[in-house]
Amino acid sequence: MRIIFIGPPGAGKGTQCKQLVDHLSVPHLSTGDMLREIRSERSSLGRLVASYIDMGRLAPDFLVVRIVEEFLRREQCNSGCMFDGFPRTLLQAQLLGEQLASRDDRISMVLNLDVDEDALVQRLLKRAEIEKRADDNAETIQQRLRVYHRQTSPLLDFYAQRGLVERIDGCQHPTAVFDQILDRVRARMG
Ligand code: ADP
Repeated sequence: MRIIFIGPPGAGKGTQCKQLVDHLSVPHLSTGDMLREIRSERSSLGRLVASYIDMGRLAPDFLVVRIVEEFLRREQCNSGCMFDGFPRTLLQAQLLGEQLASRDDRISMVLNLDVDEDALVQRLLKRAEIEKRADDNAETIQQRLRVYHRQTSPLLDFYAQRGLVERIDGCQHPTAVFDQILDRVRARMG
């Protein structure tokens, strides 16, 4: 079972994805977490990654795709995994599709966490106070939302054409959101 979470920054992808990972016991790939790990290294790659993340821009496709390739090679990933924050561009989606197809595999479903823009900004500003993430500040938040609309939201059409998208109302309480997710997953997986 391979599930992709798509939603704007602040929609709750990380939170929901972690819960679903615990529930289904499958490996979790958060490209955001992995990139932050690389960012914290004092290497030239770390500095390159920081220059994208801190500006609210997407890291280069070649780098992200390499991270995902390595992740998928792990044996634990053979029977499924959860993609959190990946793919984020059409090229990433196409390359992921090809990688999976070469193993006779494919995406099972796409969960689209939908939250209105005002609520997103409020959540991200709150997270900025608590977590002190370098990219959670008023300016960068607007930039990440623009990047989401321009580069990532077209993926919803791409996957909808393949009949894979389930829309989830992400404005509710996190437990209600999770219940909705479980319903959709069960309905699809039988
Ligand atoms: P959020 O969804 O709140 O933006 P993430 O942790 O998913 O948080 O991502 C943080 C940052 O990491 C993004 O703004 C981007 O710079 C980078 N990033 C994460 N995933 C990808 C990806 N698939 N492609 C390119 N950049 C990514």
